[in-house]
Amino acid sequence: MISFEQVNKWYDSYHALADVSAEVARGEVVVVCGPSGSGKSTLIRTVNRLEEIQKGRIVFDGQDIYAPRLDLNHFRARVGFVFQSFNLFPHLSVAENIMMAPMNVLGQKRADARVRALELLERVGLAAKGDSFPGQLSGGQQQRVAIARALAMNPPAMLFDEPTSALDPEMVGEVLQVMKSLARDGMTMICVTHEMNFAREVADRVWFMDQGSMVETGTPEDFFARPQSPRAQKFLADLR
Ligand code: ATP
Ligand code: MG
Repeated sequence: MISFEQVNKWYDSYHALADVSAEVARGEVVVVCGPSGSGKSTLIRTVNRLEEIQKGRIVFDGQDIYAPRLDLNHFRARVGFVFQSFNLFPHLSVAENIMMAPMNVLGQKRADARVRALELLERVGLAAKGDSFPGQLSGGQQQRVAIARALAMNPPAMLFDEPTSALDPEMVGEVLQVMKSLARDGMTMICVTHEMNFAREVADRVWFMDQGSMVETGTPEDFFARPQSPRAQKFLADLR
């Protein structure tokens, strides 16, 4: 579903991704972990070309994302991406935030987009909040709206970059719960997160990165119990 083939990325002379190869199968959940600055955000941002790569290939849902004929705006809109900061439009209602891309990019009719938005809000546990404004919601609720907004484009996969890192601790669980339910429903997901319990419970694979390299990929069982590389061993020891 998503494959990275010897991906290389430089920020000027800084080698941020060094020959990264890895693959996510359809329906798989991958948790990406590694020390700060190891390239986790850079890696997932390459998938919708928020970061361009200089060498290698990325295939997303059968599409070479550097194909010359790719309609980049349309493509980007279909990659479900959830960041640490929710970036909802403050002057639009919650439902309108979710309806906007389906109407503008997919040409959905307003009434249809609204029905779908309300369905998605129910799915993330916010059925009653469609006509609220983002400022009236807690951080955890806003992040769940951001997930619903991404889902509204029917993305073939969802990418998460530390979706719970900016939240007060009591709101982390409700967002992870929504992510778990997506995983259970078979969504293909790449999640950058420090929530190692989520990785243990939900991930099919864990990717450990360090200094721009994919150092280890394995099942959570293997990764947590038997990390192979000294770098992963140290990373896990430091968490304790
Ligand atoms: P964190 O856990 O802190 O979020 P990360 O693993 O997501 O870290 P990245 O944000 O991908 O790390 O950054 C990887 C490396 O690339 C870091 O050394 C960072 O300083 C560098 N880097 C990231 N973005 C840029 C940029 N726009 N220009 C130059 N260097 C950058
Ligand atoms: Mg990051």
